[in-house]
Amino acid sequence: MARSKARIHARHKSRQASAGSPFPLQARRKPAKKAGMSTKAGTVIIGASQAGLSCAAELRRRKYDGPVTLIGAEPHLPYQRPPLSKAYLSGEMPVERLWLKPEAFYPASDITCLTNASITAIDRDSREAVLADGQRIGFEHCVIATGGEARIPPIPGANLPGVQLLRNLGEADHLSAALNDAKSLAVIGAGYIGLEVAASARKRGLKVTVLEAAERPMARTASPILGGWFGAIHRGYGVDLRVSTPVASILEKNGRAGGVVLGDGEEIAADSVLLAAGLALNTGLAEAAGLDCENGILVDTACRTSDRFIYACGDVARFHSALYGRSIRLESVQNAIEQGKAVAAAITGEDVRYDPVPWFWSDQYELKLQIAGLIDGADSIVRRGDPEMGNFAVFHLKEGRIIACEAINSAPEYMAAQKLIRSGKPVDADALRNLDVAMRDLLA
Ligand SMILES: Cc1cc2nc3c(=O)[nH]c(=O)nc-3n(C[C@H](O)[C@H](O)[C@H](O)COP(=O)(O)OP(=O)(O)OC[C@H]3O[C@@H](n4cnc5c(N)ncnc54)[C@H](O)[C@@H]3O)c2cc1C
Repeated sequence: MARSKARIHARHKSRQASAGSPFPLQARRKPAKKAGMSTKAGTVIIGASQAGLSCAAELRRRKYDGPVTLIGAEPHLPYQRPPLSKAYLSGEMPVERLWLKPEAFYPASDITCLTNASITAIDRDSREAVLADGQRIGFEHCVIATGGEARIPPIPGANLPGVQLLRNLGEADHLSAALNDAKSLAVIGAGYIGLEVAASARKRGLKVTVLEAAERPMARTASPILGGWFGAIHRGYGVDLRVSTPVASILEKNGRAGGVVLGDGEEIAADSVLLAAGLALNTGLAEAAGLDCENGILVDTACRTSDRFIYACGDVARFHSALYGRSIRLESVQNAIEQGKAVAAAITGEDVRYDPVPWFWSDQYELKLQIAGLIDGADSIVRRGDPEMGNFAVFHLKEGRIIACEAINSAPEYMAAQKLIRSGKPVDADALRNLDVAMRDLLA
C-alpha cells in the first residue's frame, strides 16, 4: 500500500456485518451461489464517495468475507456532496455533519479506506489496481466509482485565478472563503448547483448574477414549467438571472477573475466568479484499461463493465433502463447509493437487474424540489396544486401513465408518483389534478 502518502483509515480487524434494510432493487437470489463466498484477492473499490462507500458497506452487510479496499483520491473520508452548495455553503451545517460514516465505522466494518490515494491504472491481465506511487493492489473484483469533476468549459479566462468550481469539499471551502471577501458573485450556468449556490449567496447578502446559455434554467433535467417557475423565484429573491445569455469570456482584473463578458460585449463586474457548467466524467481509467465507454462507463444490468471482473456504479456508470427503454446515466445520491448496493449484490452472487425509478432533490431558499422519473418522452402534462401557493406538482404522462413528477414542497405527490411510475398503473388525469382526490386513492 502507498503508506508514504496515502492515509490508511482501517486495517482488517474484526468483521461486523451491520443489520439494515434488505436490498431494495430488482434482484433475485441465484440458488447456485452462496452470498459471502470467500475470495482470494477481495474487492478493490476505486472512488471513496457515495457509490464506493455504499458498495463497501453493502458487501459487509451481506457478510462478504474477502478484503474490501476503498481507495479515494481526496484527502477526506467519504462525505456527502449535496450540502456543499446548500447548508454547508450558507454556513448552516458544520463540516462534521458531512461525513457519511464516522471514522470508527471503517475498522469496525473491516473496510480499508485509503485517502489521498489515486489509482492510475487498472491492469486487467494481472487483476491489479496500480497506485500513483507504483504499488499494486490485487483484486478478484474491481469497482470503478470515480464520479466526475466540475467541467471547465472552453471559455477564455476559465483558468484565471479566482475562478471557482464546486464539486468537492476543498472547492467548497475555497468558494466559501471567496464569498466571505466578496460583495458580488457571477455564476456561469443555471443548473442545480449554479442555482443552489445563487440561493446560498443571496442568503449571505451578496449581489448575484446568473448567466445561462439555454433558454431556461435547469434546461437539461427539468420541464419548461418548472424551469420558468424557478427562474421567477430567483428573480423574486433579487438574483439577476439571464437566460439565452452565453458568456464569451471571463473578465480579467489585476490578473484575477473580475467578472464576465457577454456575447454582445457587455461586461458584468463581480468579485467572484463560479463556473457551474456540469460534470466532466472520470472515465479515463476505464478507457485506458480498454473498457467500453460512451459518455460513461457502459455496464450491464448487473452493473458489470465489458470486463466481467470489473463493475462500475454511481455518476460514472451508464446502463440500460428497462423502465425507460433507453440507456441512461444518473447524477444523483440515490442512484450512487442503490447502484453501489447493486454491485455488492452482484459480487456476492445475486442475479441483479438494476432498474431504478430515478429520483433527485434540490433545495433552493425555502423550497424543496423532488423529481421522480425522467421527463423526456411524455405526451401530456398534468399540474396539481397552485404554483402561486408555492406547493404544486407537475406530472408527466405517456399514454395515460406517469413517467415523471416534479414536486415543489409536495412530498405526498412525489412519493405516490414514485410508486405509480414503478407500477405503470394508468391514472385518470382529472383525478390527478383534483386536490380533493388524495394521492393514496390513486394508488389503490
Ligand atoms: C455541490 C453538489 C450538490 C449536489 N446536490 C445533490 C442533490 O441535492 N441531490 C442529489 O441527488 N445529488 C446531488 N449531487 C450529486 C451527488 O453528490 C452525486 O450524484 C454523487 O456524489 C455521486 O457519487 P459517486 O460516488 O458516483 O461519485 P463522486 O461523488 O464524484 O465520487 C467519486 C470519487 O472518486 C474519486 N476518484 C476519482 N478518480 C479516482 C482515482 N483514479 N483514484 C482514486 N479515487 C478517484 C474522486 O476523488 C471522488 O472522491 C450534488 C453534487 C454536488 C457536487
